[in-house]
Amino acid sequence: MKACRKCNYIFEEGDVCPVCGSDDITEKFGGRIYLLDPDNSEIAKLINAKVKGTYAVRVK
Ligand SMILES: [Zn+2]
Repeated sequence: MKACRKCNYIFEEGDVCPVCGSDDITEKFGGRIYLLDPDNSEIAKLINAKVKGTYAVRVK
């Protein structure tokens, strides 16, 4: 599992973030939240998530 440092999105395959295209990724992250409906989620607004999926709460 890898997390993007830019948008916090968590993904398993590849070396670039499938959401924002950044290659600034890390395997060290804390916490995980699943966003089903980012448009109507307060957490999504906090971490600036726009795409449905799993996000890291903190990235290192
Ligand atoms: Zn990203």
